[in-house]
Amino acid sequence: MQYDHDNMTGVALAADLVNAVTGVRQPLSRVAMRDVLLSHEIRQPELADDHIHALAQWADLLREVFAASATEDRTRAANVILTGGTTRAYLTTHDGWSPHLHFTGEDEDIVARVMAVTAGGIAIFLVESGGERLGVCARADCNRVFVDTSRNGRRTYCSARCGNNDAVSRHRQRRN
Ligand SMILES: [Zn+2]
Ligand SMILES: [Zn+2]
Repeated sequence: MQYDHDNMTGVALAADLVNAVTGVRQPLSRVAMRDVLLSHEIRQPELADDHIHALAQWADLLREVFAASATEDRTRAANVILTGGTTRAYLTTHDGWSPHLHFTGEDEDIVARVMAVTAGGIAIFLVESGGERLGVCARADCNRVFVDTSRNGRRTYCSARCGNNDAVSRHRQRRN
């Protein structure tokens, strides 16, 4: 299986969007949200307050796809966001990119475009991953989500830091 950049944009943005609102007091900072969108090459990420609110609500729905423990539940959660986030599917070659799918009109507002690219990207990813390789960090107080692009597909933590911290605290518990 190959996770090339074009195919990964939507699912990677979805994870970053969920993590951007995780454990943060609302409303989110406009700068923080704009940085997330820009880092995934979302064009014209101009955000009004109600856009930020709408994207935070969307992130809550996206989280359910990462948090689902069984393929059937994950498929159902992904279908909820596909229905809510996409209006149509078509191929485009804008800005010199190789042909890739878009799931709503290119002149839609920022919220509609982010909903479409994350919903479509998650669906494409789940087809390729067999419904797996999305998860929530195993460290109890973390809650960040991740996309598992590791070779063996057995990732359980959002970061090496969380994995190390968890190993240390488990070690301490054994000694007590
Ligand atoms: Zn595009
Ligand atoms: Zn973590």
